[in-house]
Amino acid sequence: MSLENMKAMLNKAAEQKYGVGAFNILDYNSTKAVVLAAEKLKAPVIIQTSAKTVIYWGTKAIINWVKELAEESKVPVALHLDHCKDLALIQDCINAGWTSVMIDASSKPFEENLSLSREVIDMARPEDITVEVELGAIVGVEDDIHVKEQDAHLVNIEQALEMCFTLRPDCFAPAIGTAHGLYKGTPKIAFDLLENISSQIDIPLALHGGTGLSVEVFKKCIALGCAKVNISTQLKYAHIDGFVNYHKAHDTEYNPLKVIDSQYKKLEDAVIENIKIFGSEGKA
Ligand SMILES: [Zn+2]
Repeated sequence: MSLENMKAMLNKAAEQKYGVGAFNILDYNSTKAVVLAAEKLKAPVIIQTSAKTVIYWGTKAIINWVKELAEESKVPVALHLDHCKDLALIQDCINAGWTSVMIDASSKPFEENLSLSREVIDMARPEDITVEVELGAIVGVEDDIHVKEQDAHLVNIEQALEMCFTLRPDCFAPAIGTAHGLYKGTPKIAFDLLENISSQIDIPLALHGGTGLSVEVFKKCIALGCAKVNISTQLKYAHIDGFVNYHKAHDTEYNPLKVIDSQYKKLEDAVIENIKIFGSEGKA
């Protein structure tokens, strides 16, 4: 199939109350693991790139490998730019063929966040590119966005409604207490706030900071409107562990393809585990 944007896949997921996994990739091998795992389970999937990963490889290399894998696949695949503050990079990704982008102006004052998000929607919509916007501060470290724990704040409900009603983004990421990176202790999720938002808006919500949440929390958030579920940190660990564990077990063997295979298997297992939890198996 050709690359799709997130609109149809997220609207269907929101309606049927399952989550579409949005997995952060690092290279060709991890992209292949995500797409083929989704295909094994007949699940729609979102390939997500951090701004850092885009800058590292360049847009041309990434779009080539993602397009090829998507075209050979029987499941819908979207290519989404995760947390991006840089409008020029967003434009580069749109020009290169990304089908979806996120503008993260959540660290700016509300009015500025609104106007930057509007600017990106105006850039993307004529090209049929979907846009995710964020409001509130999601704690943790994501790329170069550092939000100190004490500065983290949950989304303001009035502002959330204003943002969604005036901008009509394709996907809305409210800060509800989840965090990027690894949780220290049990996360406190503001389910009441999530429920309040999703009962008043009909826009699919994105759940950030998925790594480390319990199955129960995932299911509850998805039931309350989170149609896009982000997984990044878990895949970073799978990537490194796949390499290190293989080398530890075969420390005299220097066969890079076997190492790549081991990484692939770890990544594929992680993606399969998450798709099953999110309920998107068989939804392609
Ligand atoms: Zn995030």
